[in-house]
Amino acid sequence: MNRYCIEGPGLISFSGGRTSAYMLKQMLDTAGGAFAPDIHVVFANTGKEREETLRFVHECQVRWGVPIHWLEWRTRRTKDDAGNVIPFDKRFEEVGYNSASRDGKPFADLIRVKGYTPNAVTRFCTSELKVRVMKWFMQSRGYEHWTNVVGLRHDEGHRVAKSRAPNKERWTVALPLDDAKVSNRDVRAFWRAQDFDLQLLPFEGNCDGCFLKARPKLWEIERTAPGTLQWWSDMEQGPGKGRFVTEYSYAELIRDVRTQPDLFAGGLFHADPEMDAECGTWCAEAA
Ligand code: SF4
Repeated sequence: MNRYCIEGPGLISFSGGRTSAYMLKQMLDTAGGAFAPDIHVVFANTGKEREETLRFVHECQVRWGVPIHWLEWRTRRTKDDAGNVIPFDKRFEEVGYNSASRDGKPFADLIRVKGYTPNAVTRFCTSELKVRVMKWFMQSRGYEHWTNVVGLRHDEGHRVAKSRAPNKERWTVALPLDDAKVSNRDVRAFWRAQDFDLQLLPFEGNCDGCFLKARPKLWEIERTAPGTLQWWSDMEQGPGKGRFVTEYSYAELIRDVRTQPDLFAGGLFHADPEMDAECGTWCAEAA
């Protein structure tokens, strides 16, 4: 049995990281260069992805000739003011490389609606902006049940175990990279042999100032790309009540870097693959 071959209907969740791009390429090659019409590749944009990620998704799409649906969250509401059900395809919007949000608007709108910022315990950004958007996409196409293909490697132990746990959702999770025992080393070797790559270090992936990144990594991000954490600080002081992280605010992170820029200069994190993962898998059960 080829681990990269799935029966439709299926959704291939593409995070914009090297690992899920690797998985996409293996599946595409196995399918002979084109997927069946009921297998869809989806990238859910939060608006806080780095430009390099957006470019990488676009490059995979163009170079490999694979259609990728770029989706953005629009509303949590299931009914309008008159009580009519809002169709699934009106709860998200399909955008493209040029029109994709780069200013965090989908994420900020969600925080405004919720009235507070997400955090490591209540990670509604993942469940709303990614997991639920992908679910609505499949439901808008009339699917009742499907296979959700997620790019988790064999060496991502606890995430694999969590994703394999039974769920009551409309999808069955498939983890072909785990099945094929693919490790980070395999993924790196693959990208070394390609003539294009994601122009980010692993810890820079997913949302640019994601609160799941460790504090030294957030310092490093602000140090190397000043201003990156300002949006996150604005969210804490504006539409959202509370902090993304209990122990410190983003204003403090920014201040730390401004007052002691050399203290955090490092390059200590370059081999850490933590943020190469699809963040949607971390709380996929929450949708
Ligand atoms: S990368 Fe972080 S901030 Fe962005 S949606 Fe995922 S958990 Fe939320």
